[in-house]
Amino acid sequence: MLKSMRPERVHILSRRPSPSKQDWVLYWMQASVRVIDNLALEYAAREAASRKLPLVVVFGLKEGSVDSGPRQASFLLDGLKYVARTLRDMGILFIVQNLPPHDAALDVADRAALTVMDMGYTGMQRFWRREFVRQAPGPVMMVEDNVCVPVESVYEKPAVGARVIRPRINRVREEYLSDRIGLVETPEKPTHFDRDITDAEDPVLDKSALGTRPTPVSTLRGGGDEAEKVLNRFLEERLDRYGEDKNDPSKNATSGLSPYIRFGHISVREIARRALSVGGRGTEDFLEELLIRRELAVNYAWYLPEYDNPGTLPAWARDNLDAHSADSRPYLYTEEEMESGSTHDPYWNACQKEMVHTGCMQGYMRMYWGKKVIEWSSDWRAAWHLLMKWNDKYELDGRDPNGYAGVAWCFGMHDRPWAQRPVFGAVRYMNDSGLRRKFDIEAYVRDVTARITEAE
Ligand SMILES: Cc1cc2nc3c(=O)[nH]c(=O)nc-3n(C[C@H](O)[C@H](O)[C@H](O)COP(=O)(O)OP(=O)(O)OC[C@H]3O[C@@H](n4cnc5c(N)ncnc54)[C@H](O)[C@@H]3O)c2cc1C
Repeated sequence: MLKSMRPERVHILSRRPSPSKQDWVLYWMQASVRVIDNLALEYAAREAASRKLPLVVVFGLKEGSVDSGPRQASFLLDGLKYVARTLRDMGILFIVQNLPPHDAALDVADRAALTVMDMGYTGMQRFWRREFVRQAPGPVMMVEDNVCVPVESVYEKPAVGARVIRPRINRVREEYLSDRIGLVETPEKPTHFDRDITDAEDPVLDKSALGTRPTPVSTLRGGGDEAEKVLNRFLEERLDRYGEDKNDPSKNATSGLSPYIRFGHISVREIARRALSVGGRGTEDFLEELLIRRELAVNYAWYLPEYDNPGTLPAWARDNLDAHSADSRPYLYTEEEMESGSTHDPYWNACQKEMVHTGCMQGYMRMYWGKKVIEWSSDWRAAWHLLMKWNDKYELDGRDPNGYAGVAWCFGMHDRPWAQRPVFGAVRYMNDSGLRRKFDIEAYVRDVTARITEAE
């Protein structure tokens, strides 16, 4: 039955018998807000067609799914609107409810022969899933399609670094990238409900629960259609020079895809397949980030569910930071001084403002950003919590395993001990002279200033 998809992508979450009234198969959309290359949706459609039942798709839009304010919410909504238009054209009913995700799914699961869901890895997504499975009236399956290789098939415990998962993923990656079921046609959508349910043509949010900040980013729209454009531009214009220039903050060499990946607006497997088909110099460097580094972050969030807590750090890193906690710091800043980008360091101020105003900090600068907050805080654990908080609050791609693993990396996670130095001990250090030596960092500062003006 699963000839075209590796069976380990499918997880059986509940074997309860189907309810007596079976009017549809339900796909609970949560982490994969897309129609194209969505294996959970394709799996659900095939199950519906084989039972001669319509397919219903549901998404819940409250509590946690949008709790970082209007910025992420408006990006998510762009994606939902695109999904709504696409599913309507295909004759598939899409319901978006202003309910917590698991409640939205439970609301329509009572007449579902089967519920299929996609897979997210954060604590909030795991909570919704647990709650749903606890109360679901029928069988529940989960299809793991937001990674190249399912997390537990790659490695059975927390990985110490990329080197332990790289050979395992690279050995099988073409096989897993080619998984595909195809979206089969399903019977006409249901029209009779015992309560007020309509097609989500134009999903809207209860904005009162969101507050006002951080504001949406006017220069960036979400959605699968936008993601395709961003991917096409990257493959045509920048993939070739990705390896040489990806770290250089003044070169704009990276893909800019992380917010779209974060909301599942585009599939990582599709991105990887397209990069491989274009080929050329930058491809392997790009796949190292997209598949290995990203799936290392998924491993971190999956096996260490306390991922936003410094207790997850390796002992050597914690011991070193503790041993140097009384070292004198060259500068100490308050939370407000740092949040507003008012330190003595123009490069750090630029990247902080880039994040606050544009929602996307350049990748290399994210490392520098984290290292400096450690250096300028009197307590490294306070620095940890500040970084986690700002990353989740301002980055469009925040609240994602990559963000948690990225912040943890600044404190030694997935890294090795380096030479001893004040404040950091053996944890890797970065400084501004490195930025000046390697890059035209002044050009980066000018570029950020111009982009902030455009975004406002
Ligand atoms: C302190 C810190 C915080 C970070 N916060 C986030 C975050 O909230 N969300 C997020 O997606 N990434 C985060 N990263 C990882 C990385 O910086 C971003 O994924 C990358 O900069 C996004 O830009 P891009 O899409 O142009 O990446 P590209 O260079 O084009 O890479 C393609 C894709 O590969 C993945 N990727 C790239 N670099 C990494 C990496 N180091 N670790 C894991 N996956 C990677 C991303 O999905 C990215 O979209 C963080 C890194 C650090 C050091």
